[in-house]
Amino acid sequence: MTGAHAKGRTIAVVSSKRQIRVGDVLIGGGAPVAVQTMTKTETANLPETMAQIHRVAEAGADLVRVAVPRNEDVEALKTIVRDSPIPIIADIHFNHTLAIKAIEAGAHCIRLNPGNIGGPEKVAEVVATAKQYEVPIRVGVNSGSLPKHLREMEFTDPVGALVAAAEETVALMESLDFGDFKVSMKSTSVPNTIASNRLLSQRIDYPLHLGVTEAGTKWTGSLKSAVGLGTLLADGIGDTVRISLSTFHAEEEVKVAFEILKALKLREKGPVLIACPTCGRLQFDMDSVVQEVEHRLQAYDDPIEVSVLGCAVNGIGEARHADFGITGAKDAGMIFSKGEPLKKVKTSELVDELFKEIDRYYASGKQVLRNEAEAAEATQWLSENEDLSAMTPERLAQMEKDKAAEQADTLAAEAEVAEKAFVDESSSPTAGRRFSRSA
Ligand code: SF4
Repeated sequence: MTGAHAKGRTIAVVSSKRQIRVGDVLIGGGAPVAVQTMTKTETANLPETMAQIHRVAEAGADLVRVAVPRNEDVEALKTIVRDSPIPIIADIHFNHTLAIKAIEAGAHCIRLNPGNIGGPEKVAEVVATAKQYEVPIRVGVNSGSLPKHLREMEFTDPVGALVAAAEETVALMESLDFGDFKVSMKSTSVPNTIASNRLLSQRIDYPLHLGVTEAGTKWTGSLKSAVGLGTLLADGIGDTVRISLSTFHAEEEVKVAFEILKALKLREKGPVLIACPTCGRLQFDMDSVVQEVEHRLQAYDDPIEVSVLGCAVNGIGEARHADFGITGAKDAGMIFSKGEPLKKVKTSELVDELFKEIDRYYASGKQVLRNEAEAAEATQWLSENEDLSAMTPERLAQMEKDKAAEQADTLAAEAEVAEKAFVDESSSPTAGRRFSRSA
């Protein structure tokens, strides 16, 4: 097992041992977790499909899947593969001929569920073509379409049934001397998705594609996916993900996927916005401010961290990691960087001034430019607005640190006294001259 590295800080990751390549994207074997989505257009509608592919690529998708249920979709696939900025996966069900044609049309990968493609002979025909064109396959099993002999088991042991179906699929691929594949097990149940992938990841070393199938609307689907996929990814399981959301805007799936990966420090994609939850101390319209900051940050690619605090009562220590931040009150607020005040500004100008500072930072080659007079004014404002008696986590941590330092000083002083009291006989003027009662 290998450790996968993303830019910036990483968490311990154990990805699949084997690696495959879809177009120019590496999957598994320590590669960063790949984000994929699926177009929601009729594939043969080229203008619509290509527009959506460009939008998802712009949002950061590494791979995109298109449904190929008809011959006209295969025809369209040729153009899509040629013009797409990211690799294309052709999604095939029930018809092995379409799978073969999709490979011949240039698809970078095909997705099929061997259980619904018409038997092992037909799977073998597809695999033979995939070998010839060196095209990988995503093989999958769905809780809703398990092979007949596992359907009884599904009622008593749904996780065991899913894993058994996946292992049978892997065995079929291996019997065809084909190893260029990744595996997915899809379930609408989050606990079953977690349990089955945990189990399968211990039994096979092929890359795993993760997804909670039919997860729901943007709200519920994002949460279910964050719990299901986030749990697995935090365990180091999963090489590629797709967030399935009931929306026609596939780019939303990509954004949610990146938020999950960013939260786990597995991928970096654009700025990270931190905002307090607000409370009764708030004195300005922070909802609008956060929305505006979030919107304007979309124009930046760098993984800069920006914090929005509703007030300065707790100081700015909680946001000391942020590259830039703002905190406001009724009439005035402050811009800060890495926990240090930069500038006091009117609350109504907080957002504009924040972005001026961010732009100055980039214009000067990522230097925080500090004007001492402005910083002093901001520090003064902060001292008037923060509540120094508030027991913030930072202040508690500082108190513990001070106490530990104090204890360390005491111990050092005691050790010094003890050392002075200790008589080193070899250097003592009375060395060798022991006195005893008998002497
Ligand atoms: S920063 Fe201020 S407004 Fe925000 S949650 Fe904390 S105390 Fe409340």
